[in-house]
Amino acid sequence: MTKAFVLHSGGLDSTTALFLARKEHGSENVLSVSVDYNQRHRKEIDQANKICELFGIGRAVLKIEDMPISMLTDASASVPNVSYADLPEGVSPTYVPFRNGQLLSKVAALASMHDGPSVIYFGAHAEDAERDAYPDCTLHFVGAMAAAIYIGTYHKVRINAPFLSMSKAGIVTLGTDLEVPFELTWSCYKGQDLHCGTCPTCRSRKNAFLIADIKDPTDYDSEIDQSITNTAFGKPSGLVEPPRKDPFDDIPF
Ligand SMILES: [Zn+2]
Repeated sequence: MTKAFVLHSGGLDSTTALFLARKEHGSENVLSVSVDYNQRHRKEIDQANKICELFGIGRAVLKIEDMPISMLTDASASVPNVSYADLPEGVSPTYVPFRNGQLLSKVAALASMHDGPSVIYFGAHAEDAERDAYPDCTLHFVGAMAAAIYIGTYHKVRINAPFLSMSKAGIVTLGTDLEVPFELTWSCYKGQDLHCGTCPTCRSRKNAFLIADIKDPTDYDSEIDQSITNTAFGKPSGLVEPPRKDPFDDIPF
């Protein structure tokens, strides 16, 4: 029997992937897997726990202790209040070094311990890959990882990335059909009690519901001016960047 391992952050996309896996394989054959990499928005892990408990889905939380520093792991860095489209092209400030490569590898190792075949559901979508913001969400990346994982697990573990050519609004529409409890999912990068409504991922979430013409059940923080941006001339300004550390800095040649 094929088992489905869902890379489940607790966000809107991966929770829809979880519900798709549940429909295609049955709850008893699905395991939700989150990875705790000291992300500042650890609330996403709590929300994933809640969703799985409520719907009787098996759950595992793996750990990566030494994820390189990035805006998403350094609470002293500021997250821009702009949309992804307003960010300069190239490396996104919210990029975590090779994150999805690391996460998929962790899940693949776990999935390979199952006696029979396994499939990893991965919720990357077309907008993640736009303008090369997240190279580890692209078709090329997923194809290469899928091949490496399949070969490296004695042909036991496959990847299914069902949203690669789908927009986030398309995921909202599909998730609505699958009765995903969107109100329990968590997107915001800032790690506060409520969704800020202004960071790139909150804007993308809002926009997806708007385009899909489906009511957004998210409780955005009313204390925050939802119209604010810190964009000047197309580039985020006033940001505190996380310190970038070259691994060779400490080596005394
Ligand atoms: Zn936010």
